[in-house]
Amino acid sequence: MIKYIYNSEVNDLIKLKDVSKIYYNNGVVGTGFSNISVEFKIGEFVVIVGESGSGKSTLLNVISGLDTYEEGEMYINGEETSHYVEQDFEEYRRKYVANIFQSFNLVNSYTVKQNVELVLLINGYDSKTIKNRVSEILKNVGLWELRNKKVTKLSGGQKQRVAIARALAKETPIIIADEPTGNLDSESAKQIFELLHNMSKDKLVVVVTHNLEQVEKYATRIVRMHDGHIIEDKKIKKIEEVKPQTATHKEMSFTSKYFLALRNTFNIIPRFLIILGVFLAVSITILGEYADINNSDYQDAVLGASSIFIDNSPERIIINKPDKKIITDDDIKELEAMEHIKRVVTKDWLLDQYVHFSNDERFLERATIGIIDDYDGDLSKGTKPVKDGEILLVGNKDSIDFLYIDDWFNKRGTIEIPMPSNTNGFLDNPLIDAVITGYTYDNSLSTSYLKFYVTENTFKEIQAFFTALSSKILLDFGDDNKFEEMIRLTQIVLSKDVPKSTIYISNNRANYIDQNFFRDDITLIQNSFYGTNSKKVNVLRKELDDPSVMAMINPYDIYDLLPTENYQLSLYADDYKRVDELVNKLRDMGYNVYPVKDTNTLPSAIVKLYDFINYISIGFIILGLFLVSNFIISLVLKSKTTYYAVVRILGGNIKLNKNLISLELFNCMNIAFILTIILTFLNLYKVIDIEALNNAIRFLKPIHFVAVYIVLIIFSQLLSRRYSKKIFKDSMITTYNGEI
Ligand code: ADP
Ligand code: MG
Repeated sequence: MIKYIYNSEVNDLIKLKDVSKIYYNNGVVGTGFSNISVEFKIGEFVVIVGESGSGKSTLLNVISGLDTYEEGEMYINGEETSHYVEQDFEEYRRKYVANIFQSFNLVNSYTVKQNVELVLLINGYDSKTIKNRVSEILKNVGLWELRNKKVTKLSGGQKQRVAIARALAKETPIIIADEPTGNLDSESAKQIFELLHNMSKDKLVVVVTHNLEQVEKYATRIVRMHDGHIIEDKKIKKIEEVKPQTATHKEMSFTSKYFLALRNTFNIIPRFLIILGVFLAVSITILGEYADINNSDYQDAVLGASSIFIDNSPERIIINKPDKKIITDDDIKELEAMEHIKRVVTKDWLLDQYVHFSNDERFLERATIGIIDDYDGDLSKGTKPVKDGEILLVGNKDSIDFLYIDDWFNKRGTIEIPMPSNTNGFLDNPLIDAVITGYTYDNSLSTSYLKFYVTENTFKEIQAFFTALSSKILLDFGDDNKFEEMIRLTQIVLSKDVPKSTIYISNNRANYIDQNFFRDDITLIQNSFYGTNSKKVNVLRKELDDPSVMAMINPYDIYDLLPTENYQLSLYADDYKRVDELVNKLRDMGYNVYPVKDTNTLPSAIVKLYDFINYISIGFIILGLFLVSNFIISLVLKSKTTYYAVVRILGGNIKLNKNLISLELFNCMNIAFILTIILTFLNLYKVIDIEALNNAIRFLKPIHFVAVYIVLIIFSQLLSRRYSKKIFKDSMITTYNGEI
């Protein structure tokens, strides 16, 4: 690292000895200038003239450190520069040189004030000093009134004054102006030269111009160039010996960098929106994919076919006690209080039965039943059941039934209770009048079945029918006269119209039966797995409409005989991943435990293959996203290449530019991530509906969001690196010229 202490022993600030600039363009060699030997001192106001193509700009670029030279020696403040690398020239430009160009090179999206601020920020001034300096300088060049105007709104003369203000703010000992008035009318040109003159007191000013007559009075020296050579070098005024002021250049603080990056983030709104859009798409896609993998993990567990259970939710665990012991209310309380147990369901066999719903237009198949009190989610439409027979339908959104929603929503029909599979088919299914008053989506359900939530009464009624349908009816007439039949195998019809504790025997069948059996003290016996219960019933002859029906009985008579104690329960874990842990705990507590997920059969090799495909595909998706975003963001950032070139001309090094780019992308990325989270929640509360986010909340934990965030950080940093590499691979002036 070179130290810049002004060396008062050395008179020449810049000294060239036989320096040549040679261009190599596609194998063709051209000369910018050749064998130039010249020195410049502090206090000089050098005017360079010469026809177009004579090498004036090339000379200025070389002495500004914006371009390289090929031959000869260049001394800066007495130090030879042939060993200089780009970083050394960066330092030199930062501390020594302020450039003014014909084409102004202002940041067009900035205001006057912001343009001047930029150079002060880059040179590490604190915000208070910046504020004071900016107003001082702007007043100085007569731009105070225009300070908040975008520079694009200014006239050429005003723009060049901004450029001069910027050069002033840089506080360098050298000011180099390449045709600063080339684009200006003569009145504006006059003002610009005046300003240059005013600031030249303790500096070296080198101006290239065609308006010699306007600047002659200020010049201390006139240099004429022709065909790459200096053909005349005339000192026309004596210069006073001056000691230059040493400017204090500090490293830019992180706060200033961040402030600048923040300004650049929002500076051009369409640009910001495009970058934001890219990051938003990336973050939603990755999050969605991630959630999908977790979801499919879950689906593998759910969708694995169970030949035993209809409700084969992987969270479900069935328990009972050894030796058919009763599960007491206290036991239930204890279970409900356990960690990771979400729900305890008694009389759980109904979970594995399903019903149908039909009306004149539509037949909804395979719905399992729940009590509405157990449902605590929201409704997509309609109302929760309040009256018996009302149904809340919950189903996977992709379920075909939702396509025909108008056929069934709020239209009266019946719940149909299917006969157990070995029915002989003589009897009609039991029916319950019903209407679907509300529905909602739950994509964790399989598309192959629905869920009905009904009132507790209706639930009981369905339960009574199911139980009765699966029961044997045993009538004890005394004296060893017993009558036993499976209800579903005979023509015994279940009907709520039959009074409780009554059995109707059809008149035409009654003739074949001992008349002694028609009494009110016949014993109805229910044998269950857990014991035997009985009650007295009244057996009556009755004229029945349907000649095929032998007898009728109220299903509650059978249901009531079931043991009221609990022998078996279903528990639901709050997360299926907790099931194994719960199973162990419950076994330790002395229960027989049957995790339903273990009865699901899906070959594990297939599950593994799915997982593998999933991870491969997310890899490809991330790669694809990266390539697409790299393309779009590069295009968008390319529009800023001029900006970064300007920053470099003003003394910002490549590192600073890289920081600015990566901070800007970091900002956009953060905003996109926050938006993603907001969108996820809006999705959760059904304000909006983005497919990719549907599973995100359900299946992702905060740690997953953190993971996606880290992916995004890496993503944005890779993008900024790739882009910086591209724009900084060429030398300063090539990048710059390529853009103008
Ligand atoms: P002036 O500023 O005096 O008009 P320049 O310094 O721009 O002249 O150009 C001097 C010579 O160098 C010209 O012959 C020009 O064609 C050549 N030149 C300038 N820039 C390049 C470049 N990037 N590549 C090749 N030749 C160049
Ligand atoms: Mg030129």
